[in-house]
Amino acid sequence: MATAPSPPRVALVAHDRMKPAMVRLATEFQQVLRRCELYATGTTGERLQAELGLPVQRMLSGPLGGDLQIGARLATGGIDLLIFLRDPMTPQPHEPDIGALLRACDVHDVACATNVASARRLLATLLEAQAGS
Ligand code: PGA
Repeated sequence: MATAPSPPRVALVAHDRMKPAMVRLATEFQQVLRRCELYATGTTGERLQAELGLPVQRMLSGPLGGDLQIGARLATGGIDLLIFLRDPMTPQPHEPDIGALLRACDVHDVACATNVASARRLLATLLEAQAGS
């Protein structure tokens, strides 16, 4: 008997000024995301749980090490796709952690979107894949 394919493991991270955009994005692709295994940094995950009721596994807040926790999971094969809505206009106290997470995506060839337009395209491909399964 064929086993069901395991759900994509998606990590969601948004800097503070980008959190409204993340909530809008997650609302638009809610059906897709509900069929994924979701991970998020602390405050991003809190918003997605509170506002959409998404079942998110929350890490620490980004500035407290949450980006690094997601990076460690990603580096050991536990994340298939990262959506990281960065705020390009505001300096972040954990800039090295952000760089480390994005570098881990490149090292391990994990799909990564850092703005809404690319995130929408990635999520649209997940939607297509789910529709075909
Ligand atoms: P947060 O972290 O979701 O806890 O705000 C995001 C980040 O700044 O990396």
